[in-house]
Amino acid sequence: MSHPLDRVARETAWQRLDGGTFDVLVVGGGVTGCGTALDAATRGLSVALVEARDLASGTSSRSSKLFHGGLRYLEQRDVRLVREALHERELMLTRLAPHLVHPVTFLYPLKHRIWERPYVAAGLTIYDTLGGKRSMPRHTYLSKAKALTKVPGLRPDALVGAMQYGDGQADDARHTMMVARTAVEHGAVVRTSTQVVRLLRETDDAGIERVVGAELRDTETGATCRVRSRVVINCTGVWTDDIQAMVSDHVPFRVRASKGIHITVPRARIASDTGLILRTEKSVLFVIPWKELWLIGTTDTDWHLDLAHPAASASDIDYVLDHVNAVLAKPLTRDDIVSVYAGLRPLLAGESDQTSKLSREHAVSRVAPGLISIAGGKYTTYRVMAKDAIDAALPDLPESTGACVTQDRPIIGADGYHDLVMHLTSEAQRRGVTPDRMQQLLQRYGSLVDEVLAPMADDPRLAEPVHAAPAYLNAEIAYAVTHEGALHLDDILARRTRIAMETQHRGTESAGDVARLVAPLLGWDAVRVASEVSAYVARVEFERASQEQTGDAEAEAVRLLAPDTLHPLAVGTSRA
Ligand SMILES: Cc1cc2nc3c(=O)[nH]c(=O)nc-3n(C[C@H](O)[C@H](O)[C@H](O)COP(=O)(O)OP(=O)(O)OC[C@H]3O[C@@H](n4cnc5c(N)ncnc54)[C@H](O)[C@@H]3O)c2cc1C
Repeated sequence: MSHPLDRVARETAWQRLDGGTFDVLVVGGGVTGCGTALDAATRGLSVALVEARDLASGTSSRSSKLFHGGLRYLEQRDVRLVREALHERELMLTRLAPHLVHPVTFLYPLKHRIWERPYVAAGLTIYDTLGGKRSMPRHTYLSKAKALTKVPGLRPDALVGAMQYGDGQADDARHTMMVARTAVEHGAVVRTSTQVVRLLRETDDAGIERVVGAELRDTETGATCRVRSRVVINCTGVWTDDIQAMVSDHVPFRVRASKGIHITVPRARIASDTGLILRTEKSVLFVIPWKELWLIGTTDTDWHLDLAHPAASASDIDYVLDHVNAVLAKPLTRDDIVSVYAGLRPLLAGESDQTSKLSREHAVSRVAPGLISIAGGKYTTYRVMAKDAIDAALPDLPESTGACVTQDRPIIGADGYHDLVMHLTSEAQRRGVTPDRMQQLLQRYGSLVDEVLAPMADDPRLAEPVHAAPAYLNAEIAYAVTHEGALHLDDILARRTRIAMETQHRGTESAGDVARLVAPLLGWDAVRVASEVSAYVARVEFERASQEQTGDAEAEAVRLLAPDTLHPLAVGTSRA
């Protein structure tokens, strides 16, 4: 049995934090922070991770969800970044997270005769070679006729031929949460809705002022406590500057936010066997298969507004529609859109005026004695970022601290996954679910699947599909609360499941049933159930309305009319 992230664990975590001392305090529960907590815990260090909102509630649930080298970084001659990312892709697919990361193929339509095919083929050959030992097939060339049989949805005049290649794909929010849970398995204390509001500083015997811990605030209750640590590691993505501003105005790097949005449309709207990668004037646009949907994105524009709730505007949506429609035989319209989400890239500031040209490489720095900041990078390279962060903290850590071992520490649910897949039909039958359902469950939980399904024996309601979201079982909703640290409807509907993104109603039709199901587990009375449901529905409605507004400022103003279930303080230079 795994260690559950439930209400008891939450209370115990607060007791351990309050007045406690750790080797490492990680700030931020995105993929970088969770990876850093796992890295530290597996080196035998005592670790606490605090997250102001929910695990992956920042950028780490709003990405394109690809474990990839990034073809366009190759074009920018960033070979080191591509090699590193492809190495990570391979590790995830084979050893660390085979249950969560899966291959996906992309077709690149060629538009120009003569020069373009050798140019793209040369790039893809390097991509294949840098990928090393391959769990991904090598790229292939497709004639125009062959490409159109694979993607009948393309306009015949949109290509003269095509290249096909492979990459990796994962549910980012679930993957981040599973990394956090793996850290807990290795002894880390992880607590969500817990914000760092101040860094503690002391002058040591040598007269040097050091960061020695943090003041924490429970964003559910407003309670505060202090925790001490040998080192604090700032993994707060687009909020990096806020934490840095708590100690110094003179910092080695700053982080700026660049907004990227995705729309989702039903699979049936684009006839295709494969994903697409399309060139745009600034960057690339992906059309990515995602269960019954296509995810289409992304954009790349500067963002100076609220960091917690970036809004997609009508102009963002039109940009995506215009670019994808340029190659589709049957253009998409706004009516085809199932959902829209926006995320903020944490980019290292100051390298280029155009955000899409800023390096995706990460930076790690000792901002002050006892405080390390790590930022930039990509989701794909989180494990390397985590290693670099802990390596940079070594001067603050015990001399006996070992080297990074996360390349050999699978994410929970990986052990035994392949055996279950090999006997999918019989394993499904044994658990009373269809093979399709079993496959989906394995891709969400791996070998933890029995922990999810076991309570169905005592409560048959849990074996039923979620109201208005039949791709999920009620058992998964309960498990989100009993084991995966979900505290609010948004955590359950937007991140533990992806109902918010995968249904036309964006979770509003499921919210009432889901709230009543988890009420006894979270100690909610009828009033709290009603307020959680109304806050969730309001969030969806204002988000929809914001997507009708032309510009960022108008969209953001409407989005912020939705009430926030959490109450983080504005800290540092913060806008949220
Ligand atoms: C549109 C888009 C598409 C992308 N697609 C890809 C892709 O396909 N592949 C890829 O490799 N990368 C992709 N990326 C990049 C990738 O998603 C990010 O690099 C990564 O998720 C950043 O993770 P993070 O942990 O650094 O930041 P975050 O996930 O934002 O985590 C930071 C966390 O810190 C918390 N926090 C902030 N302040 C405090 C405080 N005071 N106390 C406690 N907690 C605090 C926040 O609540 C937040 O949860 C994409 C990014 C975007 C925007």
